[in-house]
Amino acid sequence: LTKTYHTLRPHVPLPPPSQPLSITEFTLSLLRSGTTNPSTTTFLINAVTGQRLSYAEFFRQTNYLALSLRNRYSLSKGDVAFLLCPASLHVPVLYFSLLSLGVVVSPANPLSSDSEIVHQLQLTRPSIAFATSHTSRKIPSNIRTIVIDSPEFLSLLTQNQFNSFGSSNSTHVVDQSDAAAVLFSSGTTGKVKGVTLTHRNLIALIAGLYQLKNESSPDQPPEPHPVSLITVPLFHVFGFFMLVRAVSLGETLVLMDRFDFETMLLSVEKYRVIYMPVSPPLIVAFVKSELTKKYDLSSLQLLGCGGAPLGKEVAEKFREKFPNVEITQGYGLTETGGGAARTMGPDEMKRHDSVGRLSELMEAKIVDPETGEALPPGHRGELWLRGPTIMKGYVGNEKATAETLDSDGWLKTGDLCYFDSEGFLFIVDRLKELIKYKAYQVPPAELEHLLHSNPDIADAAVIPYPDEEAGQIPMAFVVRKPGSKITEAQVMDFIAKQVAPYKKIRRVAFINSIPKSPSGKILRRELVNHAHSGNLSK
Ligand code: AMP
Repeated sequence: LTKTYHTLRPHVPLPPPSQPLSITEFTLSLLRSGTTNPSTTTFLINAVTGQRLSYAEFFRQTNYLALSLRNRYSLSKGDVAFLLCPASLHVPVLYFSLLSLGVVVSPANPLSSDSEIVHQLQLTRPSIAFATSHTSRKIPSNIRTIVIDSPEFLSLLTQNQFNSFGSSNSTHVVDQSDAAAVLFSSGTTGKVKGVTLTHRNLIALIAGLYQLKNESSPDQPPEPHPVSLITVPLFHVFGFFMLVRAVSLGETLVLMDRFDFETMLLSVEKYRVIYMPVSPPLIVAFVKSELTKKYDLSSLQLLGCGGAPLGKEVAEKFREKFPNVEITQGYGLTETGGGAARTMGPDEMKRHDSVGRLSELMEAKIVDPETGEALPPGHRGELWLRGPTIMKGYVGNEKATAETLDSDGWLKTGDLCYFDSEGFLFIVDRLKELIKYKAYQVPPAELEHLLHSNPDIADAAVIPYPDEEAGQIPMAFVVRKPGSKITEAQVMDFIAKQVAPYKKIRRVAFINSIPKSPSGKILRRELVNHAHSGNLSK
């Protein structure tokens, strides 16, 4: 019986680990080996302003900025840069300049609260910050801050301030084992942690995808130039990774500084977008919205969905409404640098219940949380992952690192999962989010999927509610569809008919919207507080 699960994808050769190489050098070498013409290919488009940046211009700006950051601001390998910047054409330039110098990029959600920012700064101890004129006031004054929507910053991008252009490219200063980025985990089940990813981690991720792209295309007819629209934030691992990926493949990316559903639809039509990375709530919006009929979405071929559970019903309804658009699912953590498993190719993509098979270079175990025993297919346990994309550790938190990464390099994901006999991975729920009804475990995600399948329900979330007799009972927060009058009893009855008795929903409250993180995760703690606040509507 299998105890360790190995990837079924083809082997991916990686550069020797001792070779000095940054992720920027690596992506550039891939781009150069492809067919993209940097002068004529657009790299970035701002969806709102229509402003564009060609690949050639992007690299020019990146070089100019790197020179200034090194010579004028004395930034060098090992420094940390904290970013509090909504998506704009400047952000990718900033990421690549910093990465090329070996400066660690640490982008945070621009909507972070003051106390969250203090916590993030304590973890990363940056020597410089980048912000906009809107967000810069959130950064404490003792940290040198560069405002990126200022004329000064623009001059750093457009004028060569230093004459040493050729020698600037401080080639080979970066070792693969150097930290490249500190990305913040979602913190929906604990305090936010800073995840350190190395250049090697990112190189391994990109190498896997690059090979896949090249293997899948030779016999296929030439596609239209791939245009992706990023609906996921650039500070989250999903967006960060999409950006690096786009450069290595020479694709065009459409960015939105603030997500808005209708602007997104308009941009798909206007820029003939083919692919979009999305979080599950966006697929729900596609299914439920009438606005989609107003726009020509015929260019759209594929949505890559990840970050949170996607209901099978939702995926199927999406396919009914948009039969020409496929959905691939990916599963990963900030700690795995990107997708640790995904569906690929027409057969796997039909499986809307599974997040797919292990990605290139990845190994897994399913471990019984109580006995520590590795389990065979069909058995549920905690998913452990190992491979070259797994993080180096949590910055400033050795205790959490030691609890999460064991001495053999296994990452404990905290997710309750199982594999089937064909190597498909199923995510049941996060271990920490399981509801304990009497001695039974109830996965809220399972009940949420069922609630989503009810035509009267626009959105839903399930949380544990304290109960003297049972310990906890499952409680549902429900957003009614406009015009619906569905009652508490009807919600409970709808679920009771479909689940084992211990999984029944035993309490319901109605709410206007479900609070979610930028990657689509339900902010359960907010709902737990709300459930205890006493002013719930029935
Ligand atoms: P973060 O690193 O903050 O994005 O959170 C990672 C967590 O998101 C994982 O441990 C999972 O619990 C959850 N997650 C990510 N992708 C999926 C997916 N496709 N299906 C279900 N849960 C997911």
